[in-house]
Amino acid sequence: MLAVVAIYPVIVVLGLSNTIGYHRLLSHRSFKTAPWLRYAITFVAAQYSGAPMQWVGAHRIHHTVSDTPADPHTPTKGFWFAHSGWLCGTKSPVLGALFALSGFGLQVRFLLVDLWRLAGKHPPIWRAMARDLEKERFMRWLDLPLVMTACFVAQLALAWAIGGAWGIAWLWAVHLLLNNATWIVNSACHLEGAGSRSYETRDRSRNVWWLALLTHGESSHNNHHKFPKSARHGRDGEFDTSWLIIRGLEKLGLAKDIQTA
Ligand SMILES: [Zn+2]
Ligand SMILES: [Zn+2]
Repeated sequence: MLAVVAIYPVIVVLGLSNTIGYHRLLSHRSFKTAPWLRYAITFVAAQYSGAPMQWVGAHRIHHTVSDTPADPHTPTKGFWFAHSGWLCGTKSPVLGALFALSGFGLQVRFLLVDLWRLAGKHPPIWRAMARDLEKERFMRWLDLPLVMTACFVAQLALAWAIGGAWGIAWLWAVHLLLNNATWIVNSACHLEGAGSRSYETRDRSRNVWWLALLTHGESSHNNHHKFPKSARHGRDGEFDTSWLIIRGLEKLGLAKDIQTA
């Protein structure tokens, strides 16, 4: 019971590190923070989302070519492709669902991609989309092959030391919940028929209110595609925890130059 209760604050903090950190701070530069906070948020998000340059690069490509054949994760190729299949190169709903349920599957993918890079293959396209981050030594360090795998092995060792097999199961549940909360924005929030659209945009983005709590406000996704630079996604009473935290950081003097629509 204690483990179930303990999982909640962990997934909230780690979830916010992705939505506030990887998405609004790094990908869209919606606000600024002191370097120590920028790197602390980035390091926490990296523990399940992978290296920042890869995440940011893929996300910026998504915004550039949303819902066209070049979009890395559009549900026009199927819900499960947009959700998780794109990460393992399959349009099969069954394989996509299995990957989504695998919990640690994304970490295996990071390892395989890094081995591919170590084999001397050309740097993937994300690098070209994250040149600003490449200027920062910390971002380059996290992007080195096998750094993410080393972090994951450290997580496994810690979980095993604390709780043995139950500790590993707990860690698996954390990764499972966090990954799917991130991916559901790519799948459900671009899915025809889900939620609603407040703005005409050239993509198929939707606002899906019932996902707002799980995604910390990221599911106001049509608003976000209309105003990608804005640090605030939820509007007119839409729930947006990430925005509330960014406002809180501003009041504490930890966030500045906050962009809004
Ligand atoms: Zn989108
Ligand atoms: Zn975005």
